[in-house]
Amino acid sequence: MVQVIYLGLLGCRASDTSEVILDNCQIPAGQLLGEAGEGFVNCLEILDGGRISIAALAVGMAQGAFEASVRYAKQRKQFRQAIADFQAIQWKLADMATEIEAAWLLTYRAGVLKNQKKRSTKESSMAKLYASEMSVRVANEAIQILGGYGYVKEYPVEKFYRDAKISTIGEGTSEIQRLVIARQLLKSSF
Ligand SMILES: Cc1cc2nc3c(=O)[nH]c(=O)nc-3n(C[C@H](O)[C@H](O)[C@H](O)COP(=O)(O)OP(=O)(O)OC[C@H]3O[C@@H](n4cnc5c(N)ncnc54)[C@H](O)[C@@H]3O)c2cc1C
Repeated sequence: MVQVIYLGLLGCRASDTSEVILDNCQIPAGQLLGEAGEGFVNCLEILDGGRISIAALAVGMAQGAFEASVRYAKQRKQFRQAIADFQAIQWKLADMATEIEAAWLLTYRAGVLKNQKKRSTKESSMAKLYASEMSVRVANEAIQILGGYGYVKEYPVEKFYRDAKISTIGEGTSEIQRLVIARQLLKSSF
């Protein structure tokens, strides 16, 4: 029996997500992907690449939230000046931009290894862990910079905040990324 259960989501609602239950299904041998008994190993190898994609997605969402913050900070006036002139806002923007670039570089490094067909387990997990947690932090700061408008749907940052969260969960949670990274580190001899 095959059962498909539609799931409503906090964010990323353009991506229809469903739980698929395959119960007591017989799959014809011709439909087998890879070798029998190797599924788990194949899945782990695919995850090394998938995690780079999630990291890239997270960097893109953070960049979107950052650009919306800069636009708004230049345009919004309080106390007779643009809020971008306040040092408190400037420091937020500086931290956001620095974290985005750091995540981008980690993601790029993992992508280069993948393109060179080299093992990227540790680097993919580092990129995914840092980029996903960074995108949640950046989207959170973006809401703060927009003040009340950050929380309403008229501006895009509440959506970046909701969408960014899935990147800390899908393709392995942040906790699992830390586990993978630690395992790889402990294999090395220093
Ligand atoms: C929108 C969406 C789309 C998805 N798309 C896909 C998809 O296309 N394909 C797919 O296969 N899956 C997909 N998933 C599933 C997703 O990969 C899992 O939800 C995710 O990997 C976490 O697994 P879990 O939900 O079983 O959490 P659990 O494993 O139950 O984890 C719950 C909590 O316990 C922690 N935890 C679990 N084990 C450990 C441990 N060993 N050490 C420390 N902490 C631990 C977790 O980090 C988390 O905080 C999707 C999920 C969502 C929400």
